[in-house]
Amino acid sequence: MTNVIDVEKGPTAARGRGDTVRAAVMVAPGKMELQELPYPDHLEPGALIVKMEMSGICGTDKHAFKGEVTLYGGTESEQDMVFPCVHGHENSGIVVEMNGEGRQIEYSGQALRVGDRVTNCPNVICGRCWYCRSVHAYPYCAEHQGVGMTYRSDRFPHIVGGWSEYMYLPPKAWVYRVPEHIPVELACLSELFVVAALLDRGKELAACGGKGFHFGDTVVVQGAGPIGMMMVAKARILGAGKILVLDASDTKLGMAADFGADTTIDVSGRSDAELVEAIRDQTEGRGADVVVETVGQPGVVRVGLEMLRRGGTYLETGNFADTGEVALNVHRHIAAKNVLLYGNTNHPHDGYYRALEMMWRHRDRFPWERLITHRFGLEQAQQALEKSLEPDALKVVFVP
Ligand SMILES: [Zn+2]
Ligand SMILES: [Zn+2]
Repeated sequence: MTNVIDVEKGPTAARGRGDTVRAAVMVAPGKMELQELPYPDHLEPGALIVKMEMSGICGTDKHAFKGEVTLYGGTESEQDMVFPCVHGHENSGIVVEMNGEGRQIEYSGQALRVGDRVTNCPNVICGRCWYCRSVHAYPYCAEHQGVGMTYRSDRFPHIVGGWSEYMYLPPKAWVYRVPEHIPVELACLSELFVVAALLDRGKELAACGGKGFHFGDTVVVQGAGPIGMMMVAKARILGAGKILVLDASDTKLGMAADFGADTTIDVSGRSDAELVEAIRDQTEGRGADVVVETVGQPGVVRVGLEMLRRGGTYLETGNFADTGEVALNVHRHIAAKNVLLYGNTNHPHDGYYRALEMMWRHRDRFPWERLITHRFGLEQAQQALEKSLEPDALKVVFVP
């Protein structure tokens, strides 16, 4: 009989207590499964349930799929992404249920109601540890949890991730009401643009003589994936001079040009020395003022440091999960060059409204929606993850 009921409801019918929810589950590295998971039988105070419209496949999810599961290695927050897990933290969805007053649940105290479109920050912090009390906006929390990363799907509340018809956002999750004029694509992409706040940190560091990111500086972006593209856009908005982008994919380099990169450099078949030479050719022989790493492979860090001018600033964010080690010459790469090396995980949770607004304001300048190159249903999960690793894929999304 349950089959009959399912057929009557259809895949997009409203679900509630006692029903199941279709979700794409990462059951092990490299393995996706379509599963029916329980719709949560209750909501904890401050929790809400969202009917998903769109959810992206992020670099973090690709790291997990490749078996690179350790986050925040060597810190109090060190943790592994879990299996089985419903991933998906770049989300856009519609609120269907809340346990609590909307103003208490919404990040800035807006009057959140059932039917509103929301996005969320993946980080859930304790609010009580030394880091939560001392470091603001960045989630250094010693008890950190990640929506779509560290919640197992085989126990309540099962669906804490966006690759699902419905998503449960736990108490303390940061939920942002998306303004009515913002389309679903921008809501889904907003988390990536918040990551580009790394360049704002570079701006702050410009107070340290000759370091940081100054008006008119040459910026190199290693990697032309979606995060790399967000860095290109942000660097331009913040006043970069020349922007140079490196990647091995023609599709991605073409997109980088469409986002306003001045020069794109295909790294395939070129030695590190040739790449450094190519950057020096564009910078009066000195090297770049700022290099941003968004590739997520440790091997590119060494050549990235070599692309810097003396006293330049290296912003590292691609190796968000533990990807292994790389050999550096500490004298040549860091000390002798007076390099400012700035590591980054995550993004500031207070950046979402600004990101949404600035993406909207600059919608004629940057082709945000073209970043979404592939859309998949939940039943195509394996194919979607495999596609996301191919060179012609920028942002791959699920449309549940
Ligand atoms: Zn992400
Ligand atoms: Zn904490």
